[in-house]
Amino acid sequence: MSREIKIYNTLTRKKEVFNPIVENHVGMYVCGPTVYGDPHLGHARPGITFDVVFRYLKHLDYKVRYVRNITDAGHLENDSDEGEDKIAKKARLEQLEPMEIVQFYTLSYHKAMEDLNCLPPSIEPRATGHIIEQIEMVQQILKNGFAYEVNGSVYLDVNKYNETFPYGILSGRNLEDTLEGTRELDGQSEKKSSVDFAIWKKASPEHIMRWSSPWGKGFPGWHMECSAMSEKYLGKTFDIHGGGMDLVFPHHEAEIAQSNACNNCNPANYWMHNNMITVDGKKMGKSLGNFINLEEFFTGDHSKLERAYSPMTIRFFILQAHYRSTIDFSNEALKAAEKGFTKLMNAMETLEDLKDSKRSTYDVKKLEENFYAAMDDDFNTPILIAHLFEGVRVINSAKDGKENLNHSDLEQLKDLYKTFVTDILGLVSIKEISKNNLTNELMELILKLRGHAKKNKDFNTADFIREELNKSGIQIKDSREATSWEVK
Ligand code: ZN
Repeated sequence: MSREIKIYNTLTRKKEVFNPIVENHVGMYVCGPTVYGDPHLGHARPGITFDVVFRYLKHLDYKVRYVRNITDAGHLENDSDEGEDKIAKKARLEQLEPMEIVQFYTLSYHKAMEDLNCLPPSIEPRATGHIIEQIEMVQQILKNGFAYEVNGSVYLDVNKYNETFPYGILSGRNLEDTLEGTRELDGQSEKKSSVDFAIWKKASPEHIMRWSSPWGKGFPGWHMECSAMSEKYLGKTFDIHGGGMDLVFPHHEAEIAQSNACNNCNPANYWMHNNMITVDGKKMGKSLGNFINLEEFFTGDHSKLERAYSPMTIRFFILQAHYRSTIDFSNEALKAAEKGFTKLMNAMETLEDLKDSKRSTYDVKKLEENFYAAMDDDFNTPILIAHLFEGVRVINSAKDGKENLNHSDLEQLKDLYKTFVTDILGLVSIKEISKNNLTNELMELILKLRGHAKKNKDFNTADFIREELNKSGIQIKDSREATSWEVK
C-alpha cells in the first residue's frame, strides 16, 4: 500500500501508522449487538463507523476480513457476573423461546444496517455457535494457571494474572482502581477477589440457556465469546479490534486478559473505539423517555421527533462528527444535516451535467489530496465532508460559469465524488429522501380529501378512499384527534 494511514490506538493513547501483520491484508473484529431489543442509535454509530473503515481499507486495495459477532447468549443484566441472561429475560417476558428473540432481533438489526447502507461483514459468528471453542479456551486458561474452578463456575484470577501481565492496560485502570470500583465480597461470593470475572458460569436451575461442559451444565461468560471467535476467524493476534467506548471496560479489558492468559499474546494491535451518542444533551435511556429506536427515526413515530428522518440523513449526521467525538441528536441538528446532505447530493447531480471547458481554473488534484489526507488521518470524516463542500462550491460555480474545468479535470472530479461520497462514505442518492417526502405529502393530501368528504357527509367517497388505499397495503386509522396511516 502506498498510502500511510494513521489510526488512534486506544491501547497506546496515540495515533500510530497502520502496519498490518500480513501485507495487504487486514483482520478486523468489531463487537456486534446483543440481540434482545430494537436497533437504536447506539447500534447505528459503531455500525457506520466501522463500515467506513471497512470501505476505506477496501478502497485502498487491502483484503479485509471483517468479523462482527452476534451475542445470543451469556450477556447478563448490568453486564455483570450475576443475574438473568438478557435474551432469556426478554424471552420470559414475551413468552417466547430465547432463539425466537434472537432470530427476530437479528433480522431487525440486519434490516437497520441495510437501511443505513452498512455493508455486511465478511463473517458474522454467534456465541451459541461457538460454545466448544469457548470451553476449549477456558480449559487452556485453567491449564495455564490463570483461572480457578469453584462449584461448577470458572473465574479468571485477576491478581494472579496481574503478576505476569499488567491488568488494565486498555482502560488505564490499574488493579487498585478496579478493586475500589467493585463491591466488597460479602462472604456469599465464591470468587477469590471481587475483581475476578466469570469465564464460565454454572447454570442455576432456572437458567435455560445452558450447555454441557467439563464443569457441569453452564454457559460462557460474556467476554469469552469475542476472544474465542476472533481467534478462530482472525488468529491469535490480528490487526484491528473495534467497538463502542462503553465496551473498553470491562469487556475489552477482559478480552485482552483472556487472550494473554490463554495464548500469551495480545489479541489485537490497534484498538479503535467510537464515542457515544446523546439525545438533547442527555444519555439515551429507556427510563429517560429519550430512547428512540432507528425505525422511529425513519417513520417519525416518536414524541421527541418533529418528523421522520431518512436513514441517509442519520448516516450523514453521524459522519459529520469524528468517530471519537460525542454526538448530540436533536431535531434542529438533524434538519441541518438533511439540508447539508441534500446540498451535497444536488451538487453531484449538477456535476453529471457540467460541460467541460478548454482550460481549468481550479486545481482538482489538490482537492483529491485533501480528501485522502482527511481519511488517512484516523478516518476523519468531518474534515473530508468539509473538503467535499469546497468541491460543491466549485461545482456550483462551474454551473454558473464562474469556474472552468477541462475535460480530464471534470472526469476526475466525477470519479472523486463517486469514490468518496458513494463508495467510501456510503451515502446514496437524494431521490430516496424526495420519494419519502413526496409520499408523505401525497398521503396528507389524500387524507385531507377524505376528511373533507366525511365533513360533507359523503361517506361513500370516504369509504372508497379507505378501501382503495387498503388494497394498496395502506391502512388508515381514525382517532378522535387525527387520522393517521401506515403501510401494512
Ligand atoms: Zn465483544
